Amino acid sequence: MIELKSHLAGNWTPGYGKPTTLVNPATEAELAKVGGGETDFAAARAYARDIGGPGLRAMTFKQRGEMLKATSRALHQKRDALLDCAIESGGVTRSDAKFDVDGAIGTLAFYGELGEKIGDVKMLDDGEPFQLARSPRLFGAHARVSRLGVAVHVNAFNFPAWGLAEKAACALLAGMPVISKPATSTALLSFRIMELLVGEKILPEGALSFVAGSTGNLLELLDGQDVLAFTGSSSTGATLRGGKSVVAHNVRVNVEADSLNAAVLGPDVDASSDTFNLFVSDVVRDMTQKTGQKCTAIRRVYVPKDRVAIVIDALKERLALVKVGDPAKEETTMGPVATAQQLRDVRAGIDKLATCARVVLGGSAPVSDKGFFVAPTLLVGENPKPSDPVHNHEVFGPCATVMPYENPDDAARLVRAGGGGLVSSVYSDDRDFIQSVVLGIAPSHGRVTIGSAKIAGQAVPPGTVMPSLIHGGPGRAGGGEELGGERGLAFYMHRVALQGDRALLEALLGKR
Ligand code: NAP
Repeated sequence: MIELKSHLAGNWTPGYGKPTTLVNPATEAELAKVGGGETDFAAARAYARDIGGPGLRAMTFKQRGEMLKATSRALHQKRDALLDCAIESGGVTRSDAKFDVDGAIGTLAFYGELGEKIGDVKMLDDGEPFQLARSPRLFGAHARVSRLGVAVHVNAFNFPAWGLAEKAACALLAGMPVISKPATSTALLSFRIMELLVGEKILPEGALSFVAGSTGNLLELLDGQDVLAFTGSSSTGATLRGGKSVVAHNVRVNVEADSLNAAVLGPDVDASSDTFNLFVSDVVRDMTQKTGQKCTAIRRVYVPKDRVAIVIDALKERLALVKVGDPAKEETTMGPVATAQQLRDVRAGIDKLATCARVVLGGSAPVSDKGFFVAPTLLVGENPKPSDPVHNHEVFGPCATVMPYENPDDAARLVRAGGGGLVSSVYSDDRDFIQSVVLGIAPSHGRVTIGSAKIAGQAVPPGTVMPSLIHGGPGRAGGGEELGGERGLAFYMHRVALQGDRALLEALLGKR
């Protein structure tokens, strides 16, 4: 059996924490083991900070961009092996595996290109320099410089490739060394990526470290130059944000957590239209892609009262085509959820939603004796109230609830009852309706997707996170913000005000 190791202070060492066995979620066959080793996290952090940090900061953005492009190419060369690993260890179909692995490759390439575009500079300007007082010589400016600590990344189980890459791309481009910890249950794929990057020697020594198993006392060692970026459940996010050292040293923290993403269908949308087709396709894709284990997946579907039956029929018709099974088999279109615990949580979650809504497809009943399978499950909530579980309980599986709304304000009120989300979408070709709903829900979301007839054939689904757009959301979603092109670098950089002679400032900022 494979043993997952950490790569810390330049060496492979046994993973830390409770010994754990990783299994194939479809067959429950044992694949790998992790944990049981001793780890000196203080030495690991010091190595990343003192060896990795200076190595990265000696490079310009352009050079770090070239480095990221090389990592993207290295992953692309081993893409097939990484996809096979994702299918076996994550229980995902080949198409879902591509979503994760190609997402990683694409995000690294995107940030590589951004670095090349920023150019041969070591600090970023933050707005144009400006005259500070009467003298035309005395200028002020704001700039961003790389922080001197380490970026600790703690990731969720559902994106073992993209999760590692999207966070690392921003931190490394910003000049910060990374210590990355994947969720243990699906860490085999992250470990394979780490093995590949260590073998290729593309990154400077100490720039990227890897924790297999748990983080031990690492988070207690962080100080004011370090940052912590976390993706996972709200409860773990709250625990890490409240960590003693994190609070005492004002460690910068970014949390990407749960989200009860919604889709709203406009009253103008006819069932035979392209917009309706886009809406149905997006809901079905989000319910079934990665078996609904996407933080951005649509969980709540709001439709005009008189459309509930039509929408349920359309969704049931498409969901009937879903083939649940072992993703190693070609005919399978939806695999199991990732772990036995995940299966228990999803089944209990469906039962919880069933206290305020009626199951019209699927349900919490077991689907097979072996493997962590659950059926695509659709519910209808005839009389939704903001306090219902459907508005505050995330079922992290192939499950969504259809509910009616009265008018645009009511739709926005129900969407906001989710308490803050990563993304919600509006499907309509009526500009007034779109404007009312977008204004009503934008303050409680990181992203809003508008699906309309004009983009029906080329729309990027709401569940897809683009490196050029910000990812994160207020409230329940964690209050974080990642990606968004150059915006994604801000978390890893310190903003400083500069004042002095105009020519000197402009030279410092690479303006002349
Ligand atoms: P989780 O149980 O909160 O775990 C997330 C990560 O935290 C894992 O790496 C876990 O490690 C680690 N962890 C747990 N307790 C810790 C502690 N005390 N100290 C340090 N690390 C700790 O979440 P999950 O089950 O992996 O992920 C599912 C959740 O993530 C869902 O709620 C989903 O909505 C959310 N999610 C959000 C986003 C987003 O971008 N907003 C993206 C993906 C997922 P171990 O695995 O070793 O326990």
